[in-house]
Amino acid sequence: MTSADKRRLGIYLHVPFCMSKCAYCDFYSYVPKNEQVYERYANALISHMEHYKSAAAGCAPDSVYIGGGTPTVLPREQLLKIVRAVRRNFTLAKNAEFTVEANPATVDLSTLRALRWSGVNRISMGLQSADPRELKALSRIHTRGDFEDSYYMARKAKIENISVDLMFGIPYQTTESLLRSIDYVTRLDPEHISLYNLKIEPNTHFGKIGAANLALPDEDEEFRMYIQACQFLESKGYKQYEISNFAKPGKMSRHNLKYWNCEEYLGLGPSAHSYFNGTRFSFIPSINQYMKGIENMGSEIIISDGSEQISGRAMMGEYIMLRFRLTEGLVLSDFQRKFGYDFEEMYGNKLRPYIEGGYMIRTRDGFALTPRGMFVSNYILSDILSYADLNAITPASEF
Ligand code: SF4
Repeated sequence: MTSADKRRLGIYLHVPFCMSKCAYCDFYSYVPKNEQVYERYANALISHMEHYKSAAAGCAPDSVYIGGGTPTVLPREQLLKIVRAVRRNFTLAKNAEFTVEANPATVDLSTLRALRWSGVNRISMGLQSADPRELKALSRIHTRGDFEDSYYMARKAKIENISVDLMFGIPYQTTESLLRSIDYVTRLDPEHISLYNLKIEPNTHFGKIGAANLALPDEDEEFRMYIQACQFLESKGYKQYEISNFAKPGKMSRHNLKYWNCEEYLGLGPSAHSYFNGTRFSFIPSINQYMKGIENMGSEIIISDGSEQISGRAMMGEYIMLRFRLTEGLVLSDFQRKFGYDFEEMYGNKLRPYIEGGYMIRTRDGFALTPRGMFVSNYILSDILSYADLNAITPASEF
C-alpha cells in the first residue's frame, strides 16, 4: 500500500510545560520544578508513539501538531527527538503540514532552523495582543519586541507558514486597540491569524479574581470588536473560514480542519483527545500518572474518561455543531449522504428566525452562520439542537 492509498490522519502531541502560568489559561500546562522532567517526558511521549505505530500503520498522517503548553520550553535536543520520532513511527503523507507552537521569547534561530531541517513547516505563535498594557494584564511573559524578534527568526529559518494568535475581550482592551493589534500583525504578513475570545474559566487566576473585578469590555463592546475585526481581517486579505480563524488563500490549518470536519486524529500526551478508529478517548490530565502509565507499559490504564464508540446519533449532533463553526457551514447533500436525512426538512422552521435576524444565511449548498451569528453560536446551536430529539432519529448510515 503506498502512502497515497492510506487513510488520512492528524497527529497531536501535547507538551504540557510553560515558563509561567498565564492568568487566563485553563489548558493542561504547568511550570516544572526541575529540568529532569523534560527528558523523562520526551521519552514517555516517544514510547507512546511507538505503542501506536502498528495501530496507525494503515494511515498516512497529513498533519502533525505539537502543541501545549509551550513545546519550545523543552530543551532543543528533547524537542527535536520528539519531531524525529514522529517521522520514525508514522508514515507521513507527502507535503504533510507539520506545526509546532513556539511562543515568543522561547525560541532561538538555531532551534528554528533545526526544526525546519527536521520537517517542521509551520509555526504557531501566541502574541495575544500588541498592546503592552493588555499583555501585562494577561501576564504574558513576552513583549511585542520579543514576538517580532521570534517572528523574523522563523522567517530567517525559512518557515514559510506562520500562524499568529490574538485575543479579544481582554482587560483594558477597546475596539480601537484590538484593531491596532490586528493592523500590527497583518503588516508582518503571516499566512494565518487566529482570534480567540477570552473566556473567564473558574480554575484560572482570572476566575479566582472574578470577571467583575477585571477591567473587561462589556458584551456590546465585545460584539463590536468581533464584527469589526472580522471585517478588518477580510480587508487585509485574511478570509475567515472558522469562528476564530482567518487565512490567506490555501493557508487554512489542515490540522484544525480535521476537528471541525469530524475526521480522524490521534492525540498523545496528558489531556490529549483522540478520535481514532471510530472511538473517542483521552489521556489523563496528569503528567505524573501519564509518565508512570507509559513507563509501566499499560497505556490502557491512563485513559481518563474511558473510550466511547460514537453512535450515528451522537455523530449527527456533533457534526451539526462543528460544521456551523465553519463559514462554509452545513452542506445539505453531505448531511443527506452521511445521515440519510433532509436537514432542511428537520430544522428549516427553527432556522427561519435566525435567517431573518441576520444570524444565518441560506448558502447555495446549505446553511451557514454570519459573523453576527458566530458571535452567539453557542446559544444558536444549543437552541437548534434542542429542537429535534436526536434520540428519536436513527441515521441511515452509522459511521
Ligand atoms: S503560554 Fe499558553 S499554555 Fe502556557 S500558560 Fe500561557 S496560555 Fe497557557
